[in-house]
Amino acid sequence: MRMRREPPIQIKSPAQLERMREAGLVVARALRAAVSAVGPGVTTAELDAIAEREIRAAGAVPSFKGYHGFPATICTSVNDEIVHGIPSPDRRLAAGDLISIDCGAIAAGWHGDAAVTVGVGAIDAETARLIEACETALWHGLALARPGNRLTDISRAIEASARSSGPYGVVQEYTGHGIGTQMHMYPPVPNYGKPGRGPVLADGMTLAIEPMLVLGQRHARVLDDGWTVVSADGTSSAHFEHTVAITADGPWVLTAEDGGRAGLARLPGGLAAGQPAGPVSSAARSSG
Ligand code: MG
Ligand code: MG
Repeated sequence: MRMRREPPIQIKSPAQLERMREAGLVVARALRAAVSAVGPGVTTAELDAIAEREIRAAGAVPSFKGYHGFPATICTSVNDEIVHGIPSPDRRLAAGDLISIDCGAIAAGWHGDAAVTVGVGAIDAETARLIEACETALWHGLALARPGNRLTDISRAIEASARSSGPYGVVQEYTGHGIGTQMHMYPPVPNYGKPGRGPVLADGMTLAIEPMLVLGQRHARVLDDGWTVVSADGTSSAHFEHTVAITADGPWVLTAEDGGRAGLARLPGGLAAGQPAGPVSSAARSSG
């Protein structure tokens, strides 16, 4: 018996998932454009302008801009900044930095949300391992976005992957989330915890899964700008995110240009039973 009433989780039809895929691809391309511009001497405001141009050229709208007053298209979080960093013409990247870029867009009423962390120029091995550990943890979570699994099976997989990669701090104050006709919807998707809890995942649900790892301790605090979340101990942090659709054919990673095929295939064992990463979308093919 359910002791607590939970809100419903938005279910999308196959046709609606195709439209969400379009939003996901807009985000993927905007992130790719911004990431390709990352380098020593580039400002985070320049990256923001690139992402905004890409989103608007696709006829979509940046979802972060104006969200609770956030002033930009992307969040740019450098080094000890975990999430929600504000792009600035005064923030110039230097070789050895790492930067997390988080991007969201609305296309025809549907949301996509994704984030990636990259090094600026040459980075040290410890930082490179942190980035790799965070991305690997994300893919372990995405792989369990399947009908019949429980929500926290994803949470557990992320935490277990992160802990097997190193003594990283797994941020708890911020979580992933449901997504669809709004950016942040029920349910929250924690990056830690026991498996086998929370809602049973079903065909047509869509989640934004987004682990945040810290080189040192997991504790976070918010700067005086009211947005920027930094690690309390000042160590570097990484953040990866994808929007994924739960389908009978397996996880369909809407914000990965290949639908998630490569990322899922890299996991130990690869895709279970050789399942495809979601339906092969004619919309995805035609939009290049
Ligand atoms: Mg995001
Ligand atoms: Mg998100």
